[in-house]
Amino acid sequence: MATKPKKKKSAQKNVTRAKTKATKQTKGAKAPAKPTRAAGTDPKRVAAILAKLDEAYPNATCELNHKNAFELLIATILSAQCTDVRVNQVTETLFKKYPDAKAFAYANPSELEKEIRPTGFFRNKTKSVMGASKGVLENFGGEVPRTMEEILTLPGVARKTGNVVLGTAYGIPSGIVVDTHVHRIANRLDLTRNEDPKKIEQDLMQVIPKVKWIQFSHQIIWHGRRVCQARKPKCVDCNMESLCYAKDKTI
Ligand code: SF4
Repeated sequence: MATKPKKKKSAQKNVTRAKTKATKQTKGAKAPAKPTRAAGTDPKRVAAILAKLDEAYPNATCELNHKNAFELLIATILSAQCTDVRVNQVTETLFKKYPDAKAFAYANPSELEKEIRPTGFFRNKTKSVMGASKGVLENFGGEVPRTMEEILTLPGVARKTGNVVLGTAYGIPSGIVVDTHVHRIANRLDLTRNEDPKKIEQDLMQVIPKVKWIQFSHQIIWHGRRVCQARKPKCVDCNMESLCYAKDKTI
């Protein structure tokens, strides 16, 4: 009587076990991650939002007073946690006393601290202003550089400041400014579902045409100051109301 080959039987068992294991794994496996893009980013909806922003804020621009890229760099550093109105009051005299990067780079730190004190966080801001000025002077011949990579080498300068300066002073669309207004309104309009400014910027850069990056930043900031305020957005005055389904809408 022929004996069944043991090896074959054991091989069959192994195949069966492997199949069972694979089936279990498939059943227990997590579904592939859903795309993280917010539902409100349908291109037609985004185009409608952009049209409404153009209609409401055709001339939106940066509200920090400046005569050149260097002044805008300093004003933007000072604007952290401070209103543009207050910064403009301070820079009105500051830029007369310190007309260029060299003047700021070699300022007396304690004098400068006193001068920028009204903008808040004056010790850190003094370090950033003087550090950035030294960087501009020593590494870029006194001219604010024109690329994000270079501008980020300046002390106290992150992407938000880089985008403000490159976009407003040079007209270079390096990204989208994500300040407190853009953060809040991009979420309310469901253009992002992220809280981290870098991720919000990436989300917006994917759905807003590059040609609109600079203007979009200004328009959303204007909208945040005038209508879509943090505590009580004036939804009754908002021309995007029909497109907006934010949970904290006031109508
Ligand atoms: S409807 Fe209200 S919450 Fe929505 S964007 Fe307009 S002001 Fe903001």
